[in-house]
Amino acid sequence: MSAFTVTLPGGKVWTPKFVGEIDQEKCIGCGRCYKVCGREVLEMVGINEDGEMVRLAGSDEDDEDEYDKKVMSIANVENCVGCEACAKICPKQCYTHQAVAA
Ligand code: SF4
Ligand code: SF4
Repeated sequence: MSAFTVTLPGGKVWTPKFVGEIDQEKCIGCGRCYKVCGREVLEMVGINEDGEMVRLAGSDEDDEDEYDKKVMSIANVENCVGCEACAKICPKQCYTHQAVAA
C-alpha cells in the first residue's frame, strides 16, 4: 500500500497519521488532548455504571450523578488532519493512529 502523503511548501514529504482509537480504559479524563487539538475532533464524555457513554451538557450543567468517570472520545473523526499532537501530549498512551492509503 502506498500511504497518503502531503508535500510541504519546503518540499519535504509528510505522512499524516490519523486518529484511530482512544483506549478509554486507560484514559484518566485529563483533557490535555482536547486542548491541543485544533480541529474539534475530540469530545469529553461520561461513562455510566453500565459502561455506556453519556453526553455531558457542559461544565456548568454537568450532572455528576449520571456518570462514574469522564473519558475522551472521538466525535468528529473526519476533521482529523493526522498531526498526532493528541497522542504526543497524552500521559497514558491512550491513542492509536495510522496512515491511510493514498
Ligand atoms: S491527530 Fe491532530 S487533528 Fe487529529 S485528533 Fe489528534 S490533535 Fe486532533
Ligand atoms: S490526554 Fe490521554 S488521558 Fe488525558 S483525556 Fe486525552 S486520552 Fe485521556
